[in-house]
Amino acid sequence: MKLIAIYPGSFDPITNGHVDILNRALRLFDKIIVLVADNPAKKPTFSVEERKAMIWESLEDNPKVEVDSTTGLTVHYAEKVGAHALIRGLRAATDFEYEFQMNSANQFINANIESVFFMAKHDFMFISSSTIKEMVIGGVDVSSLVPGPVLKRLKTLK
Ligand code: ADP
Repeated sequence: MKLIAIYPGSFDPITNGHVDILNRALRLFDKIIVLVADNPAKKPTFSVEERKAMIWESLEDNPKVEVDSTTGLTVHYAEKVGAHALIRGLRAATDFEYEFQMNSANQFINANIESVFFMAKHDFMFISSSTIKEMVIGGVDVSSLVPGPVLKRLKTLK
């Protein structure tokens, strides 16, 4: 049986923290679908198409990875594609509370789909998409924190 996981998130934009979680999860799963949340209420900086393109360009054609988006619930998407697990990253205690609640909600919807949590690598603990954008606007060099294709697009924010 092929083990399929979904890595859901805003990815506005994808950072080296996200890429690290994805690469580590790829050691455990046969296929991972990076699922971009299409939620205009979050007022994203980049469109869904831009976010998907940045993910693709950053992953360099890994045959085990797919990129998609959804306007619906992650668990419903997982059911549709026959996924076994959801992948999430944990940076700090503040992430834990939110992730604990999300996990309970997802388990309520479908208890057969497990969430698997990866602890952030120490170097990437402080990275979030919003911190990166603030640093770019403030003129900070973020080239060691995001993939090259993301850096190119972030320059348009200045
Ligand atoms: P969401 O809006 O769903 O939280 P994000 O794109 O912010 O979407 O994050 C997607 C997932 O990746 C979340 O589980 C988040 O905790 C995790 N994540 C984000 N940044 C990092 C990082 N630097 N290190 C580890 N995990 C991270």
